[in-house]
Amino acid sequence: MLVSLKKVLVEARAKHYAVPAMNVNNMEAVKAIISAAEHMHSPVIIQTSEGAIEYAGIEYLAALIRIAAKGKIPVVMHLDHGKKLEYVKMALAHGYTSVMFDGSALPEKDNIRISTQVVKLAHAKGASVEAEIGAIAGIEDFVSVEEKDAHLTNPEAALDFVKKTGCDALAIAIGTAHGAYKFKGKTHLDLDRLKKIAKLVKLPLVLHGASGVLEDVKELAEKHGAQLGKARGVLDEDIQQAISLGISKINIDTDLRLAFTAGIREAVDDLPQVIDPRKLLEPANLLMREVAMRKMKLFGSAGRVK
Ligand SMILES: [Zn+2]
Repeated sequence: MLVSLKKVLVEARAKHYAVPAMNVNNMEAVKAIISAAEHMHSPVIIQTSEGAIEYAGIEYLAALIRIAAKGKIPVVMHLDHGKKLEYVKMALAHGYTSVMFDGSALPEKDNIRISTQVVKLAHAKGASVEAEIGAIAGIEDFVSVEEKDAHLTNPEAALDFVKKTGCDALAIAIGTAHGAYKFKGKTHLDLDRLKKIAKLVKLPLVLHGASGVLEDVKELAEKHGAQLGKARGVLDEDIQQAISLGISKINIDTDLRLAFTAGIREAVDDLPQVIDPRKLLEPANLLMREVAMRKMKLFGSAGRVK
């Protein structure tokens, strides 16, 4: 069933697990993810970025997710990283039950002003809002500790932000980064910062850039020609600690992309005679489903749907 983000995350926060938020841009991904959620009895957030909407069209994506939500699994239809108000409005008009407004690149007062406006628009439709404070991408590019600190989420600023905006969930920056190349050296999440934020902000917190770059998937991709080199993700134990400290939504995009493309590479290599797209996509679909199920187990969301 289609539900709001607030509904699934309030329960997750209370019971100390996290709900996976998985990015889709085609039917194969939607079907793989909902199949995983049904198999694992896990609630799930299916999200589309502005780029995915440009690629597939919002009518197609909304229809696919609505069909996926027909069973008993609670499904949130979520806009990921809405940066333009036009996308937020479009998503709400198409029945999204949740939107993210990402004003993290804006001056703080503008981020607060527009996030507040988005909350009004979304709540009027019974939808939820995830907002963001702090910069998530490219953390390791900052040269000094001070510079890095300035881009991670400040606990007091986070409290002020949620009070002023009335958002339902907050994406925070604690050292993760988007993409397959998150860390130059040792992987590191600022868990002390998370602890301080969670103590002040009594809302579900969201972790972006949290793919693990799964070793076996990476190996499969490389066996079939991908050059991933030093790609590395967040460690499972860091994820579990983050959940225990108050993270309730974890975004997964890179791991699904790696799974999908590794499966395609494998099929193209192993089945050179096959011209049936359905057969060539099968390993990709199965691998995405497998990765989604592993995340549900890791995040503790498996078994939560009775
Ligand atoms: Zn993100």
